[in-house]
Amino acid sequence: MNSTTNGGKDAAKSVAKDAAPIPLIRKPAAGTSAGPPGSASKTACIRTFGCQMNVHDSDRMRRMIRDAGYAEVQSYEEADLVILNTCYVRENAVDRVRGHLGELNRLKREGRVKKIALTGCIGAASEAQQLEKQYGIDLVLGTHNTYELAEFVGLPGMEETYTPELPGTEGEHSAFVTIMTGCNYKCSYCVVPSVRGRMVCRPTENVVEEVRRLVGSGTRYVTLLGQTVDAWRAPDGSGKRFCDLLERVADEAPRVWFTTSHPSNMEDRTLRLIGEKDTIVGRLHLPVQSGSDRMLKVMHRGYKSERYRRKIEVFRESVPDGTLSTDIIVGHPGETERDHEETLRLVEDCSFDSAYVFKFSPRRGTEAAALSAEPEGAVPEDVAQRRFVEVLRAVEQNAFRRNRRKIGLVEEIYVRHGRSGGPNEESLGKAVGETWSGHAVHVRTGAGAGRYVTAKIEEAGPHVLYAGETLGPPS
Ligand code: SAH
Ligand code: SF4
Repeated sequence: MNSTTNGGKDAAKSVAKDAAPIPLIRKPAAGTSAGPPGSASKTACIRTFGCQMNVHDSDRMRRMIRDAGYAEVQSYEEADLVILNTCYVRENAVDRVRGHLGELNRLKREGRVKKIALTGCIGAASEAQQLEKQYGIDLVLGTHNTYELAEFVGLPGMEETYTPELPGTEGEHSAFVTIMTGCNYKCSYCVVPSVRGRMVCRPTENVVEEVRRLVGSGTRYVTLLGQTVDAWRAPDGSGKRFCDLLERVADEAPRVWFTTSHPSNMEDRTLRLIGEKDTIVGRLHLPVQSGSDRMLKVMHRGYKSERYRRKIEVFRESVPDGTLSTDIIVGHPGETERDHEETLRLVEDCSFDSAYVFKFSPRRGTEAAALSAEPEGAVPEDVAQRRFVEVLRAVEQNAFRRNRRKIGLVEEIYVRHGRSGGPNEESLGKAVGETWSGHAVHVRTGAGAGRYVTAKIEEAGPHVLYAGETLGPPS
């Protein structure tokens, strides 16, 4: 399970783009559905709600289902398997997904749809269990284990399906550019290294050319992606590191961000570059996982909390108004009350602007899964739940306090999700944007995604800022 206090990484997961209405088309007779020859016996429909991050995840899932021999279809009624890749942040997000699930449940009872999968942010949320029961969902996946779909559709593993150079979408206002795949770490709890293999870095020119092409086609925001982006090294042996690549990209693209970084690889010069370069968003996602050195060792993270704190000091100094987010796991096997208190202390010391907090869940084949199977190994569920809530509350309190400091400031806001109309009067003119400091902001504007507006911050919540009327026309 995960939850987030929004603001940072969650801004990328925020507002839902309207999913297409539920189509009512009869399923064609076997062999007549769209798709490559020979694959017509199995069909799948993927419906995406939410931001570009979700669109990107859907592209990955699309490759998996195709590799597993499914033909992609556009309507539920034509599909054997329906995947709802969801967004959680909008208040009515769950209600909207419920509408789709109700319809799918009916189609399943009528024998038209065979399997339903719920993935993405709602899949990672606490409501998922209840939705699973109520609507007879066959597979629920969160945001960090979408690769498990591979197994569900009958593929041996992600190695079969992972495409390192999945191109960013041209013509979109924002795009993701994968700069490295795989991971050379072996964190106790994590399945990524075994399913994605070792790190493979993309050559500099290859990345820069893609960024140029995207910018040429209208992209205004580029996010560099990888499991440990800051571990990137030029494969040509030139000794160039992530900071050098980031600088090149920041010279090409008008707005740049990157995720996710590993504390052991994060160089001070990268942290300084974020503060110096106008085109880099002042937002750092640096997963810490635990504040206890003992747990960090058990997890094989390769750093102590002191190193992490030092990195955060450099970041706060270089980017004083920047936003910092992290990932924290509570209830890893062997975690004591004292370890948990050290995590709470680190949360206070670092004053995160947002955090993804995960309750440990055993992943097959990992060291931690074996530990949790031992007698006395697993942290009891009620203890893990309490620790989860305590960490989340601590993060939210800090985030709320920091967000309030923004009230009264006039900010240039990049519109991530425009709401310039639509059938719902309530949503008319409400957009979600991002400041250069990486704060998520609700702003009333008709400006479309990819434009900039200027407005004064009038209110602040623990997860998001609220701006008043915009000043001047959008740019
Ligand atoms: N490569 C990234 C993280 C990838 S997974 C990094 O090293 O930071 C995203 C997050 O999911 C992790 O940071 C971790 O907090 C969480 N996570 C991964 N495996 C988990 C598990 N078995 N149980 C709970 N949380 C887990
Ligand atoms: Fe690699 Fe991140 Fe998984 Fe650790 S948590 S093994 S760094 S992907």
